[in-house]
Amino acid sequence: VALGPDDDVVAASRVATDSTGPQGILDSVRHALVQLSDGRPPDEIAAIGVGVPGLVDVDHGVVSHAVNLGIGDRPFPIARSLTDDLGVPVFVENDVNAASLGAAWRLAEDQAVDDLAYLSLGTGVAAGIVLNGELHRGRRGAAGEIGHFPVAPEGPRCECGLVGCLEVVLSGSALARNWPTGPDTSSTEALFEAADRGDPAAIEYRDRYAGYLAHAVHLIAVTYDVDLIVLGGGVAQVGEPLEKAAGLALSQLAAQSPFVDALDLEGRLRLTPTGPIGAIGAGVAAIHRFDPAREARRYQRA
Ligand SMILES: [Zn+2]
Repeated sequence: VALGPDDDVVAASRVATDSTGPQGILDSVRHALVQLSDGRPPDEIAAIGVGVPGLVDVDHGVVSHAVNLGIGDRPFPIARSLTDDLGVPVFVENDVNAASLGAAWRLAEDQAVDDLAYLSLGTGVAAGIVLNGELHRGRRGAAGEIGHFPVAPEGPRCECGLVGCLEVVLSGSALARNWPTGPDTSSTEALFEAADRGDPAAIEYRDRYAGYLAHAVHLIAVTYDVDLIVLGGGVAQVGEPLEKAAGLALSQLAAQSPFVDALDLEGRLRLTPTGPIGAIGAGVAAIHRFDPAREARRYQRA
């Protein structure tokens, strides 16, 4: 997306990422920029923000361990490569962190949002944490990496080595494995539709899934005590049925404990705003880095 002087989205485009490695990523960014700028001279672009999966060193604009993009443990200096090529400053952020900023930015249109956690239920599971309007990355960039917190002793074993991590019970990949459908159908939609129709196996699995989701929301709430916990990622695209199931599981948790009840977990739950919030958040992150005065104005306005 292109953000204008007033932080509004002035243009948007969508291209598939070439996932064959560093050159593929650079080509994809260039391709997206050409579509986006629609002939505008590049000097109108003040800065570029990039959201990318994997381990991101934001100070140096370097990414590693983005396995799905063909990047392994050898760090790829994505910011420097793009700056050399395009002549503008580039800021690189982890994709879930970028989406967290994007969600905060969009939700701030309707309400004051100081603290927020964005729980991404996608290929993996991770949360982005925004505290006082700023990303909280933590000492080793692991803040919010709850995907590898074990919650299910009965398994299965996770690639990280532990058993029953949130990621192996809550990710979109786990859901697709447990509720397989054809290649053109969303497993999440198929599951919730079957449960709505009264299919006992679907109801059982939906409620078990929602129970794990409640664990994740509870964990985030007692760790960061944020105002809002936003459900995002591929699984959240199913929308209201997920919010409803999670809300029910959270109210069942609250019914067991006055302490949990007082946390009002259900009241803090939100679905992700629609639209390209990951890309918006990457742009917001670049503004934050390269134009702090404008960032301050944005929060004053909100
Ligand atoms: Zn794990």
